[in-house]
Amino acid sequence: MSLAASRNNWAIDEITALFSQPFMELVHQARSIHCECFDPNEIQISTLLSIKTGACPEDCQYCSQSGHYHTDVQTEKLLSLDEVRTQAAEALNSGATRFCMGAAWRSPPKSAMPALIDMIKTVKGMGLETCMTLGMLNEEQTQALKNAGLDYYNHNLDTSPEYYPQVITTRTYQDRLDTLTRVRTAGIKVCCGGILGLGETRQDRAKLLQQLANMPEHPESVPINLLVSIEGTPLESTETLDSFEFVRTIAAARILMPHSRVRLSAGRDNMSEELQALCFLAGANSIFYGEKLLTATNPQAEADRTLFQKLGIKAEAAHSLTGTKLTGTKADTGFTSNKNKHTNANNIPCHTLT
Ligand code: SF4
Repeated sequence: MSLAASRNNWAIDEITALFSQPFMELVHQARSIHCECFDPNEIQISTLLSIKTGACPEDCQYCSQSGHYHTDVQTEKLLSLDEVRTQAAEALNSGATRFCMGAAWRSPPKSAMPALIDMIKTVKGMGLETCMTLGMLNEEQTQALKNAGLDYYNHNLDTSPEYYPQVITTRTYQDRLDTLTRVRTAGIKVCCGGILGLGETRQDRAKLLQQLANMPEHPESVPINLLVSIEGTPLESTETLDSFEFVRTIAAARILMPHSRVRLSAGRDNMSEELQALCFLAGANSIFYGEKLLTATNPQAEADRTLFQKLGIKAEAAHSLTGTKLTGTKADTGFTSNKNKHTNANNIPCHTLT
């Protein structure tokens, strides 16, 4: 049987056994699967824009945008279509293939839906894949986003079901699973991952991955965030997660979800080039590119270009956007853009922070 065969019946003991392997063996196994499923020297690039910032009614203890905590975040109302269009054009010219729009809401207000629909149609019309993260969705909202042409919806599980109540109390784990089910049922691709370094145990990390890997269909994108400690939030003094444990989790995610894009997300700004390279070696093959990741700083564009050049990494071209012209190629960005020739990566739907 191919190492890269997809399963969705992982027992927790199998996953903890994966984590417990000698580090080199775990990374080797993940790398082998990665090479079978993807061009190992290619990274998919997304750009994330906060379209509505701060004053969120949820109490996620890590988040600068929660209205429950006193942080430096400046609240901003929903951006105008012109502002979104301008930012999307910059993302396109920077080599991004996907444009993610995030709003700090419990769920999108009815009054905002027409504007959100216009944003999706406009960004798609520019030749970018669209992703939104807006909080919980009901069926009507989900269908409206689907009808507008939304490609991906991001809704993270954050951590294990057992640890979750230590981190968020204003909505339940089941609320999140219900939104994810609606998104999948509507035919929108799923972007779902978690945050490491919240004070959780390895068992919690394994259980988070078990939740993701045992979904009827794996999320097409699995963002793995590393906590960015924000002053004023309850988790601001949380002990930093060991880097090797972070890489182990990336590797385990690659093994459990062979065909998913595993995204190195928030926290990358604080990682050395060597640690990022190790994450890519262990199976991460997607990043956020740009100056900001919602309200957390993200490595400068120039640093990303330099790292990609040092590692011989190419940016994935927008192969799924038939007929669109990708302007973000080496000539104008410094990234080498590459049409993915790996059948698996092309045929299998292969995609934050909140
Ligand atoms: S993570 Fe999202 S839902 Fe939670 S407080 Fe922040 S913006 Fe709100």
